[in-house]
Amino acid sequence: MVDASTLHAKLKTFFGYDAFKGDQERIIQSLVEGNNAFVLMPTGGGKSLCYQLPALLMEGTAIVISPLIALMKNQVDAIRGFESGDDGIAHFLNSSLSRTQIADVQEDLLRGVTKLLYVAPESLTKEENISLLKSIKISFYAVDEAHCISEWGHDFRPEYRKIRSIIDQIQPAPVIALTATATPKVQSDILKNLRIQDAKVFKSSFNRPNLYYEVRDKVEPEKDIIRFIRQNAGKSGIIYCLSRKKVEEMAQMLCINGIKALPYHAGLDAKTRADNQDKFLMEEIDVIVATIAFGMGIDKPDVRFVIHYDIPKSIEGYYQETGRAGRDGQEGQCITYYSYKDIQKLEKFMQGKPVSEQEIGKQLLRETVAYAESSQCRRKLLLNYFGEDYLADNCGACDNCLHPKARFDGQEELCLVLELIESLKEHFKLEHLAAILSGVSNAMVKSYHHDRHPLFGAGKDHDARFWAAVIHQGLILHYLDKDIENYGLISATDEGLEFFLNPHEVMLVEDRTFSEGDDDEEDDNGAAVRGGGGGDPVLLAMLKDLRKDVARKLRLQPWVVFADPALEDMTIVYPLTLKELSEKCQGVGEGKARKFGQPFVELIAKYVEENEIERPDDFVVKSVAPRSGNKVYIIQSIDRKLPLEDIASAVSMDMGELLTEIEAIVSTGTRVNLNYYINQELDTEVVEEIYDWFREEATSDSLQEALQALEPDYEEMEIRLVRLKFLCEVAN
Ligand code: ADP
Ligand code: ZN
Repeated sequence: MVDASTLHAKLKTFFGYDAFKGDQERIIQSLVEGNNAFVLMPTGGGKSLCYQLPALLMEGTAIVISPLIALMKNQVDAIRGFESGDDGIAHFLNSSLSRTQIADVQEDLLRGVTKLLYVAPESLTKEENISLLKSIKISFYAVDEAHCISEWGHDFRPEYRKIRSIIDQIQPAPVIALTATATPKVQSDILKNLRIQDAKVFKSSFNRPNLYYEVRDKVEPEKDIIRFIRQNAGKSGIIYCLSRKKVEEMAQMLCINGIKALPYHAGLDAKTRADNQDKFLMEEIDVIVATIAFGMGIDKPDVRFVIHYDIPKSIEGYYQETGRAGRDGQEGQCITYYSYKDIQKLEKFMQGKPVSEQEIGKQLLRETVAYAESSQCRRKLLLNYFGEDYLADNCGACDNCLHPKARFDGQEELCLVLELIESLKEHFKLEHLAAILSGVSNAMVKSYHHDRHPLFGAGKDHDARFWAAVIHQGLILHYLDKDIENYGLISATDEGLEFFLNPHEVMLVEDRTFSEGDDDEEDDNGAAVRGGGGGDPVLLAMLKDLRKDVARKLRLQPWVVFADPALEDMTIVYPLTLKELSEKCQGVGEGKARKFGQPFVELIAKYVEENEIERPDDFVVKSVAPRSGNKVYIIQSIDRKLPLEDIASAVSMDMGELLTEIEAIVSTGTRVNLNYYINQELDTEVVEEIYDWFREEATSDSLQEALQALEPDYEEMEIRLVRLKFLCEVAN
C-alpha cells in the first residue's frame, strides 16, 4: 500500500491533476497491493490513469495490451511528455515498427528503464517477444478494451483469448482488465477467460446524464439530417454509417448542401484519414461522416451530436459510439435513424458467417430492435442492458420521456405471461412466448404442440409485438429473467412469482411503430429532389420579369443571373433571406445568392406578405449526381491548385470525364477557381474570345449550345474550361 499523500503527489507531478476521478485511487491502491482488478468505466472516465500511474510507481515494466495501434503512439508520446527524463520510459511494440526500432525497445527493456510497454495482442503472441519478456521483471498486465475477449462483445478479437496462456508463459503478475462497455455476460466472459475471477470489481455508473437519446423513423433521412445540422449550425458532430460507400455519399451530399463535412473510413489511405481527422479536431470542418472505424481513442470533448444514419449492430456499439458526444459534460444529442429494412439487411450480411456467430449476431440485433421500438425511457433501457438499474421515472432527456405514450395498467397481461412461463416444462425465447399468447401458430410453436396449449391465443386481442413489449418490460422490472448463456431463454424470478401471487398495478406501454423505411439506399437522394415546375405561376412570372431587369442593368444574359430551375424552386420554397436562397434553391451557391439574390428575396418577401402565404418548412436537398465518388476530393485538389491531369489520374478518369465532374459540381452553385490551370495552359486571346461569347451571345448555360457555336474555331477542352471559368466568375 502506498500512502495517500505520496499517491496524490505523484498524480500531480506526473499528470498535473489535483485529485483522482471516481474510483481511480482505490483501483490503483488495489493494484499496487498485488490484486487482480476489473474496471468498468464509461468512456472518458479516466481508465488509462489507472494503469499508467501504478506503472510509474512500481518496480518492473507494466505490459499494456491494447488493440488500437494508432492509440499506442499517442499514449506513449503523452507519457514521455509527463516525464522529463528518458524517452525509454514508455514504448510500444506492434507491427508498425521497423527492425531497428524494435532493437531500441529491447535495449531499453533490458536496461530496466521502461515502465510501460504497450503491445498489440498479435505482437504479444510472437515467440521472440515472449522470450524477451521472460527475461525482465513485469510489474503487472493491463488488458485494455477487455470486452474484445468476448464473442458477445461488440468488438470480438480472437487473439485476445490467448492472453492468459501467454501471461502464464511469461511470468505471473497481477492483471487489471479495463473496458468501457460490458454487459453482464461479457463481464463474466472476461473474468473467466483471463482467469481472474478473484479480481476486485470496480464498476462506475454508465449513466451519461448530459446525453439526449432519440430514435427517428428513417423517412427521408438525408433531408432530416441536413435540417438537424442546420439547426445546430457551428457545432461539431459525427455521423455513423455502416458502409464505406454510404459514408462517401453522405459526406458529399452534405458538402453540396453547404455543410462542412469529410469522410472517414478504413478504405481511405492513412494520410487522408489522418488529415480528415485533424480537420475535425481543429474544427476546420463541422461534421465527420464515418464508419465505426472512427472514434476509437478520439478525445474531442465537445462533440455536440452523434447521428446514426444506420442502426448499430449491437447496443454496446451504440452506447460506445453515442458516448463520444458531450465528453465535456455539456450538451450531447444522440439521434438514430431506424427502419426494420435495415435490420433485414444486416441479417442478410450475416448469412455467410459460421452458425454460432450468426446466432450471436442475431441475438444482439434483436436487442437493438427492442431498444429502437420501445416506448420506454431510453436511458433506463440502456442502463438495464449493462446490468444497472435506473430508478427515476422520467429522465427528461430522451424522446420517450419527453413525448410519453399513454400507459396502461398491465397487471393482467404480466400475470398471463408468468402463468404461461410457469405452465411450460422448459424455458423458451421471448418470441416464442409472444407467439403462443397472441395465437400465432408458426413452425416452432407447432413443433412443441404449443398450438394445443391451453393458453395458446389467450391474448389474441393483441399481436405478438404487443406481447413482446410486455415481456421486455417484465425483464426491466426484474419479474422475468433472460438467460444470456442460453440464447435468451426467459424464466420467472422470485419477484415475478411474488407478483403473480399478489398482483398490483404496473404501468406498461406499447412499442412505437415505425414506417417500412425507404426502399433502397440508392433512391434516397433522388427521391428527395424535386422535379421542375409545380410552383406558383404568378410569382414565377414576376421573378422572370425581375430577372430580365436585373440582367439588363448588369449587362448580362438573364440565364447568367438565375437559371430557370432556380426560379422554379423560389416559387416553391419562398426563400426570404440570401441564406435560404442558397440553401434551398438548385444551382444557387452562396456567391450567386450574394451577387444577384437581394432584389429576388425582397420581391418574394413582399409577395408572401401580401398574399399571406404559408411557407413550407421544406427545402430542396441538392443531390450528388450518380457515380461520383470523388467530388470532395476534386474540389479540394483544385483548391490546392493541382494540375488537372494529376487530379484526373488520381481519380482514374480521363480529362473529359474530369471536366464532366467539375461541370456537375459547378452546376450546383459551387465555385471553383481554375485560373491557375487555364492561365498556364490556354492562350490568353483564346480565353478572352470564348469568354466574350458567353457574355454577349450565349442564350443559356448549355454546353451543347456553346460547342455548336464555337467548335469549328476552338478545341472542346478550351471551350469547356472557359465556360467553367465564366460560370464561376460571373454566374455563381
Ligand atoms: P477513458 O480511457 O476511460 O476513456 P481517459 O483515460 O482517456 O478515459 O481519460 C479521459 C479524460 O479524463 C482525459 O482527458 C484525461 O486526461 C482526463 N483525466 C483522467 N484522470 C483525471 C483526473 N484524475 N483528473 C482530471 N482529469 C483526468
Ligand atoms: Zn428517458
